[in-house]
Amino acid sequence: MRSAIFPGSFDPLTTGHDEIVRRGLALFDEIVFAIGVNIAKQTMFDLVKRVNMIKTCYRDESRVRVETYEGLTADFARNANIGFLLRGLRNAMDLEYEKSIAAVNRRLNPGLETVFLVASGENAHVSSTIVREAIRYRAALDGLVPAAVIPMIYS
Ligand code: ADP
Repeated sequence: MRSAIFPGSFDPLTTGHDEIVRRGLALFDEIVFAIGVNIAKQTMFDLVKRVNMIKTCYRDESRVRVETYEGLTADFARNANIGFLLRGLRNAMDLEYEKSIAAVNRRLNPGLETVFLVASGENAHVSSTIVREAIRYRAALDGLVPAAVIPMIYS
C-alpha cells in the first residue's frame, strides 16, 4: 500500500490543507495527517480539537487517518513504515522553506520521498494564520475552512 504522511499543525484545518489531501488521494492509497506536537508552541486549538476537526472532515473517507507525534517527522514516518511525505506549496517563499526541510528529511530518512502539490488559485492565499485572524474577529469562514469544520469553530 502506498501511504503518505501529511505533517503540520493544522491550527486549524483549512480549505488549503483539504485541497492538498483530496488531490493527494489520487496519488496515494492512504493519507495520514500527522499532527506534530510541540509543547513550546502555543496553538489556538488544543490537540484533541485539531484531531476532531480532521476526523469530522474525513468521516466518510476511509483512506484518511490522523495521528499525532512528538519529535522528528522523519522518525515518525520511519516508525510508521510510510515512504512518502506530502506537502503543499503556495508560493516561492513556501518553496524555499520546503526545499530545506525536504533536504534535511532526506538526510535523516533516505527512505522518505517528499512530494509537493501546488495550491490552486483559490487556496494560494489561505493559511492557518489568516484563518485564526478571521476567527478572532468572528468573520465568516466559508472558503477558508472546510464546511463540516466551521460549526466546530463557531459553536
Ligand atoms: P506547518 O506548521 O508545518 O507549516 P501547516 O498546518 O501550516 O503546518 O501546513 C501543513 C501543510 O499544508 C504544509 O505543507 C503547508 O505548505 C500546506 N498548506 C497550508 N496551507 C496551504 C494552502 N493554502 N494550499 C496548499 N497547501 C497548504
